[in-house]
Amino acid sequence: MKSAIALSLAALTLVTACDDSDDEGAEASAAFEEAYAQLELGKADTGGCSGVVVPDSSGFAKRLALTFDDGPNAATTPKVLDVLAQHGIKATFFINGSRVKGENERAILRRIVAEGHILANHSQSHLNLKNVTAAKLATEVMGTDAILRTAGVTPRYFRFPFGSASCSGMDYVKTKGYVATGWHIDSADWCYAASSGYCAPATFQYVPTGFRRDMLGYVMSQVKAKNGGIILFHDIHANTANKLDEILSELENAGFTFVRVDDVTTFPKLNGAAPAPQKWVGSGCAKDSECNFASGAASATCHRFTPTGGSAELGFCTVACEGFCPDRAGASPTFCTSLDGGLTGRCVAKSHTTNQSCAAIAGTEAKLASRFIGTSSAPVASATVCLPK
Ligand SMILES: [Zn+2]
Repeated sequence: MKSAIALSLAALTLVTACDDSDDEGAEASAAFEEAYAQLELGKADTGGCSGVVVPDSSGFAKRLALTFDDGPNAATTPKVLDVLAQHGIKATFFINGSRVKGENERAILRRIVAEGHILANHSQSHLNLKNVTAAKLATEVMGTDAILRTAGVTPRYFRFPFGSASCSGMDYVKTKGYVATGWHIDSADWCYAASSGYCAPATFQYVPTGFRRDMLGYVMSQVKAKNGGIILFHDIHANTANKLDEILSELENAGFTFVRVDDVTTFPKLNGAAPAPQKWVGSGCAKDSECNFASGAASATCHRFTPTGGSAELGFCTVACEGFCPDRAGASPTFCTSLDGGLTGRCVAKSHTTNQSCAAIAGTEAKLASRFIGTSSAPVASATVCLPK
């Protein structure tokens, strides 16, 4: 390919296009198919050495971390940065050191940092690192490490190309201070870019037929199914850069917000923090997002109230119900009643030794309540439950 560079401007364009497509060859296709299978079909490496899996797998609460791989690219990365700036969104860029060819690219790296994004390591030349020698792995990781440090960054996040890692590879990047960072959602932008906005079944089998020409629709379906998480894009594709504004607007309209991969609330395990304590019906809370559990399709919410004779607003976690409520081992038993005069049902804690007869649930006291039956077949019943004083 290098000999073609001198031929003409047209040939140069062709070389650039080929250069961008090294993610999209048959090997890349197979590797991304395997990554998808590991994530979606539960076929992750049982030894825990997958470069795709993120230790935090739920509880994203509509928070999304955008990640852009394989740059920098002098033509497309600035465009991606422009769109992110318009939306006020901070993201994470996993770069390949071999793409940093001169001052143009170094300036892009500085801009990424200056605009509040994370600059991260995606290896030097995007090889499948599962299949290389230890010496080659070290060169691939540390070459890009040096480039990131020159850009003023102490790198922390490493993403294996294609999410393809060996156990020894995972161990190696850890010894170099890196957190291996996979993804929850593959936007499949690499597949859409390979054929002018059409993701061919032969390239990536997992995109449903109705979304073969609809990257926006595919991304929205994936993001909604996961309720957030880390999403994989590539800032080297014009197709991705061109569609990004529309995708971000649609995500914002659907109520998603954006964090970086270092957001400890969203990704506590990835970032080595203790996970947020698991709340349950009756747990104290100040806002809905603290009630990190669900019952069926219903997400828990925080029921806020000011107890009689009190001045401060208090709250406990609750979840919608009709007739019955779930119970959890070791926690107070629950009961479905109404907190809004019989309009809707909400699960509350029964008065029980585990909550010291309601004394452990601030602002509540034991009261007799009748069951909210709704459209269920539950029999009429009553129970002593913890309700606001
Ligand atoms: Zn990549």
